[in-house]
Amino acid sequence: MTGCLLENVRLNGGEGPVEILMESGTIRAIAPRIAVPEGLPRLDGGGGLVLRPMVDGHVHLDKTRLGLPFESHVPGASVAERIAVEERLRADRPDATAQCGAALIERMAGFGTMALRSHADITPGAGLAGLEAELALRERYRGVMDIQIVAFPQTGVIRVPGLDDLLDAALKMGADLVGGLDPAGFDEEIAAQLDTVFALADKHGAGVDIHLHDPGTLGTFELRQIAARARRYGLEGRVAVSHAYCLGQVPGDDFARTADLLAESGVDILTNVPSHVEMPPVADLEARGVTVFLGSDNIRDAWSPFGTGDMFERAALLCQRWNWREDADLEHACALASEVPARVLGLRSDPIAPGTAADLLIVGAACIADAIATRPARRTLLRAGRVIAENGRLRAAGNTKDQDRQ
Ligand SMILES: [Zn+2]
Repeated sequence: MTGCLLENVRLNGGEGPVEILMESGTIRAIAPRIAVPEGLPRLDGGGGLVLRPMVDGHVHLDKTRLGLPFESHVPGASVAERIAVEERLRADRPDATAQCGAALIERMAGFGTMALRSHADITPGAGLAGLEAELALRERYRGVMDIQIVAFPQTGVIRVPGLDDLLDAALKMGADLVGGLDPAGFDEEIAAQLDTVFALADKHGAGVDIHLHDPGTLGTFELRQIAARARRYGLEGRVAVSHAYCLGQVPGDDFARTADLLAESGVDILTNVPSHVEMPPVADLEARGVTVFLGSDNIRDAWSPFGTGDMFERAALLCQRWNWREDADLEHACALASEVPARVLGLRSDPIAPGTAADLLIVGAACIADAIATRPARRTLLRAGRVIAENGRLRAAGNTKDQDRQ
């Protein structure tokens, strides 16, 4: 039987407990009491709040060392030094992505995340190994976690001979998007890097997600160059720029001009709410029509010992960074960690109503603001009407051998 009655749950802002009838992966009815045939399976929601699942807009499944004993952070004076540290770690544990990436996916599902965008390093050192490992994870966790993969040139595009061919091969192999990295700061070839990246996206019908840390007016110049190419290639709505600290560093007229271009060109901005540098002013960007979404970025890897993969924590960080305290602010931050990244990833995240997908997250909170403020431990993730994670752990994985593991 594919149906199930979810009992004793509440909707944000709703009066009292409701029941949700789910059949064949779809919500059929929501009401205080629903008459159902005897014998229909029932699930007690324990008075919890029902939300849409969380979506993480930016992780690195091939970098994390989650699940291994804690490794002390090795500082690097430059990006090149940190990349060298990362490559040494990779050489020590070539199978780390299969193990640690899996550990991260399962932990994220336990936190209530059902979809993510991951960047896979495409470098002379890593070759396509990171992508192969991420593609294997995508297959293994099909039916649990929707995984979108970016072919990410961690060592630059132009300065590395043949890297464009590797990115081409990565897109052929199954990467969904092509990445870029600081066209000025890393490659010192703004037009050449962006032209290469957008030509590859065009050739493969792929999206674009570029890591941009270049500061100030240099960074906003690059954003405008990216926006121009998004329009030229008809990729509006399929281009994102991750980090873009520069938007928090430039004078108001530069910001306004750049933000308007991003909005007109359908270029979205990802932030992980950095604490060490200026960040894009989220509300000001949204006021100008730019889509902003949240992601974790580095989680326990060569770049950072921090990060948990909990998108409730990420949303709370955003609120604390901007002094957002009212319920509506916390609800908005929650949307930036769920509905908005879902749309960016091309997934549906409709308001909870009959006729929509029975993909639900039940949390032990009174309302969304309570959930963001307190990050409750009690979370149950349902996909197509079936419990896939609870009590912080995966219950049953789609294509894994862990079907019966609790
Ligand atoms: Zn990143």
